[in-house]
Amino acid sequence: MIMTKANFLLSLVILFLTVSCGSNSNDYEEEFIDENGYVDGTYCAEINYYNPNTGTRSSYNLNVEVESNEVTTIYWGNGGWLDEDHFYPEELDSDGYCSFTSDKGYEYEIQILGEECTSTDETSFQNDLENDNESVTCPKCGDVKDSYDEYCYNCQDEIEHTCRRCGQIDNFMFSTDDYCGDCEDELENTCSKCGGHEYNVNGGICDDCKENEEDY
Ligand SMILES: [Zn+2]
Ligand SMILES: [Zn+2]
Ligand SMILES: [Zn+2]
Repeated sequence: MIMTKANFLLSLVILFLTVSCGSNSNDYEEEFIDENGYVDGTYCAEINYYNPNTGTRSSYNLNVEVESNEVTTIYWGNGGWLDEDHFYPEELDSDGYCSFTSDKGYEYEIQILGEECTSTDETSFQNDLENDNESVTCPKCGDVKDSYDEYCYNCQDEIEHTCRRCGQIDNFMFSTDDYCGDCEDELENTCSKCGGHEYNVNGGICDDCKENEEDY
């Protein structure tokens, strides 16, 4: 169908009527939405949280701050918040929905529910976030690690190359080795009796000690 100018105007009128009927019959939209989208303020929202690093997936009711139709802050536990330091403000669509990925790769979906909620799931959200942070933080250096590893790559590498006897780092150690080359050498070539050096004595006693023993 070719749209004539008259048809076009008519459909505009119909569209306008539909929109205004829609908002008249919906208190929610009248209260929170103006021509620029959501009115600035604090809203109750459902937050769907997914952490691909740990597999944590959960949803919470939390208060969020909206400015210029963008979610700028998510309020959580003990007056803390997730703000622009961790994500860019996200614009809400006409259904009050937006989604974003934080600087740490955590995925959030936000759905505005209505006016500021009196009770929220801040505590469980905070606990989940802290647990997730812990499971991807290296206990040795504090850097990011995979949740299924005990330490980050660098620390794991360092631990594997640290001698359990003298504590020195030996990059030639295999991950299955317990001791550095020096200790390995010392253990292999040190007489267990006199402490003297003899090649490949391997925890036994040296020839001198053997001779002395035979003399008795
Ligand atoms: Zn580390
Ligand atoms: Zn050593
Ligand atoms: Zn000896």
